[in-house]
Amino acid sequence: MRTNPKAIPSDQGAVSANRIDEHDVGTRLMTARARCAGTIVFTTSFGLEDQVLTHWIASAGLAREIVFATLDTGRLFPEVHDLWALTEDRYGISIRGYAPEAADIERLVLQQGINGFRISPETRRRCCAVRKLVPLERALRGAAGWITGLRADQSQARADTSFLQQDTERGLLKISPLYDWSREQALDFARRLEVPLNPLHARGFVSIGCAPCTRAIAPGEPERAGRWWWEQDAAKECGLHVGSDGRLVRAAASAAAP
Ligand code: SF4
Repeated sequence: MRTNPKAIPSDQGAVSANRIDEHDVGTRLMTARARCAGTIVFTTSFGLEDQVLTHWIASAGLAREIVFATLDTGRLFPEVHDLWALTEDRYGISIRGYAPEAADIERLVLQQGINGFRISPETRRRCCAVRKLVPLERALRGAAGWITGLRADQSQARADTSFLQQDTERGLLKISPLYDWSREQALDFARRLEVPLNPLHARGFVSIGCAPCTRAIAPGEPERAGRWWWEQDAAKECGLHVGSDGRLVRAAASAAAP
């Protein structure tokens, strides 16, 4: 953990967060902490929801108890790296980047070309596997809990997202404290609390992934329409939250949300 005199003191942040009481995400995080005996990893992609969660984790005084991780795919927007640095500075945290294996990338590019993900859904999934899934497995190795910024209303594929879900394939508790938030709520929260956001959001990039696979969306388009827009598959998932059967991991744990 880096020490940063400009970071928000946790008690000051907690006061702000409590006053706002947005479905009490602080209590949810505390509940998740109590339910997990081991390490909890928060994987951030620096999108709106993840930035809001970073703020809540710091505000709840949990920044030293939760491991911050990100998947540095090698194809991210420069704005994402800038926000990564800004977020570490603002909250006084260190976010560990997990990069793909160099040999895997070299083989992938040799086999299907540098932008081979556009050839077919299969080549796209292969790229996501090398650049995201393999690093994710390393990021979650040994973890008992996994915090994500998933919201149920992001897409049909995510509609069954709930606060606590058992990820049976990875053997950990999947924690989605913003599962019942809307995008508008998250935006409003971020603006009021001056949470640092990716400037691409203001240019119509709603869900932000790798640069060549993300475009801005028009008003009224589904949130994830800008991801792999050339594909017809409405699911628009890269595999991070999908089981081996191709469905989202969604076996809910018994605890109800506070
Ligand atoms: Fe590859 Fe695109 Fe998936 Fe990034 S989002 S890993 S560039 S296919």
